[in-house]
Amino acid sequence: MATPPQRPGFPARIDLGSRPTAGVSRPGTPRPAPRSVEGGTAASAGAPAAVRDSIPARARMVQQLMAEGISDPLVLRAMGSVDRHRFVDSALVPQAYEDTALPIGLGQTISKPSVVARMLELLMQGGLKGDNGKLGRVLDIGTGCGYQAVVMGQIATEVYSIERLRDLHEKARANLRPLRIANVHLILGDGMAGFPSGAPYAGIVAAAGGEAVPDAWIDQLAYGGRIVAPVASAPGQQALMVIDKSRSGLRQTILEAVNFVPLKSGVA
Ligand code: SAH
Repeated sequence: MATPPQRPGFPARIDLGSRPTAGVSRPGTPRPAPRSVEGGTAASAGAPAAVRDSIPARARMVQQLMAEGISDPLVLRAMGSVDRHRFVDSALVPQAYEDTALPIGLGQTISKPSVVARMLELLMQGGLKGDNGKLGRVLDIGTGCGYQAVVMGQIATEVYSIERLRDLHEKARANLRPLRIANVHLILGDGMAGFPSGAPYAGIVAAAGGEAVPDAWIDQLAYGGRIVAPVASAPGQQALMVIDKSRSGLRQTILEAVNFVPLKSGVA
């Protein structure tokens, strides 16, 4: 794979496969070389180190995810190919590849990379996959800054991502615009009702947790599909729940404790 001319001297590279990858500058794609982090190629000499070195930083992040037990090749490839630093404020760019949740405004957070990878691996293990090994159409509840939606766009053929906070929905739109991703659709709405227009879904993932998984999500899940969502396990506590839907019924599995923002109703 040729080294992109605007990014000389990177010490490490990830095999991103033959297709152009979301969130990284695309070699051979003509575009201006912006100075800002958001939407830029981040190649300017004055860019923060975390941006200049995002390829090795992502590779280190993937190594860390593998060490923690993430093994799905598509998930690892997706995590390794999306620039997380494009989705956080410039002051947080140096922390963008650390395994930590970061504030994205309005009291919300971008999930830890290890949590994103864990949830998407669970989805891959149970969701409906096509001949290309990817999931079919999936629903992402709680777009936030759009990071997870973009990662999901690498492991699924189509992503519908819904956010209830207008400002965050707009922020995600702005984050995605320069990436020109055709298979990720952002919706402003109350995700508690799911998004019926895209149903049935091969998989549904939520980045916000309520008392229970809304019936609408189960209704909109295809047979053979899987939901991965945080739910209240005890007062003030949350756990990851996996729901598999088959023609013979639902199977629910409670996994490890997690800490997501609350699932709220209505659009604000
Ligand atoms: N996956 C996101 C994480 C965002 S945090 C990312 O990569 O940035 C979870 C998000 O869920 C918040 O933005 C919050 O506003 C949103 N949320 C909470 N309840 C919701 C609902 N009912 N419908 C849609 N979004 C909701």
